[in-house]
Amino acid sequence: MIARAAATWLPGGVATDVVVEHEGSQITAVRRATSSDPPAADGLLIPGTINAHLHLELSALAGQIPANQRGFPDWATRLQACPRPTEPPQEAAARLFAAGVAAVGDVSSRGDTAGVLTAAGLTGVVWKEFLGFDPSRAEAAIEAATQLDTADGAFRVRPAAHAIFSTPPALLAAALAKRAVPATIHLAEDPSEEEFLAGEGVWPEILDQMGIDWRWWAPPGGTPVDYLASLGLIRSDVLVVHGVWLSDRDRATLAAAGSTVVLCPRSNLHIGGRLADIPALLRAGVRLAFGTDSLASCDSLDPLDEIPVVAAAFPHVDAGVWLALATSRGADALGLARHGRIAPGATPGLLLLEGIRRPEDLATPSIPRRWLAPPLSAWGHAC
Ligand SMILES: [Zn+2]
Repeated sequence: MIARAAATWLPGGVATDVVVEHEGSQITAVRRATSSDPPAADGLLIPGTINAHLHLELSALAGQIPANQRGFPDWATRLQACPRPTEPPQEAAARLFAAGVAAVGDVSSRGDTAGVLTAAGLTGVVWKEFLGFDPSRAEAAIEAATQLDTADGAFRVRPAAHAIFSTPPALLAAALAKRAVPATIHLAEDPSEEEFLAGEGVWPEILDQMGIDWRWWAPPGGTPVDYLASLGLIRSDVLVVHGVWLSDRDRATLAAAGSTVVLCPRSNLHIGGRLADIPALLRAGVRLAFGTDSLASCDSLDPLDEIPVVAAAFPHVDAGVWLALATSRGADALGLARHGRIAPGATPGLLLLEGIRRPEDLATPSIPRRWLAPPLSAWGHAC
């Protein structure tokens, strides 16, 4: 079969006059178009996109927590007051696939979203998230995190740590262990994290109110990146989500480790009113990818919807960077070697963004799109 569009997003940039040959999901050749090829579809052909951080299980909370930019502790307190959805988020998973998302890194409190996501045609990693700052109550979580390394449908199921103020060092070490990667943690989302490391700010009071004993812990000072680095947990296979509050030294530490920062720009604006300094991250050489966080802090789970926001905020960044973050960089972050790029041998899914020709055109929201070839499961499972 042949897919041909007016423009095609290849690893080297946009190409015109090329066709993509494929057998089902697998790309067999990318070559120059000839006069005997079918006419080009009107649009930009890209690989299926990658959302490297979401919480599908919170989808029923869409619109329940209005933006007030008061920061993560305030938002989390309002989230806690919402009844947790119990229905499987099938509709949200179907919308993800319809939006052209091929693979995700989904964080789940129960680690049970792989079935719904697989049924919708997606693949990737489901992270079961561990938290609980009181070490007397953390033993079972540490044991569970240490043993978790399974496959479920088209997904690998891995442990993840929630955040430094909610997860004690022993549980951080278990949930971000090298034996089951990629791993992930929310980091530097909010200034209260650094305050907590100094034994200050709102978290000690919130933990007290929740009846969680934190006083056994000696606040080490420094930044969240310093803290994780001191535990040996800033690594290339630990995805750091958010990275809004970083120093130059933090960025250098992340770049040197080959760590990926998963950006969630719309969620960051919703919760804290501030974006990560993406130009500074790019200058420092930090690897980046896009996530969306959940529908409780963002109005869609489509990583392409992040682009109009960041393109407006950082107009000097090349538009191709944004499209790479939503495709190849996301696939790299999740360890999906056959996704995120249109190249022979790959199985990324072929997505036509209708009516556009260039990455710059993605600064306009809600580009219509359709699959010309579906993606294949990263782990050999036919979607
Ligand atoms: Zn998150």
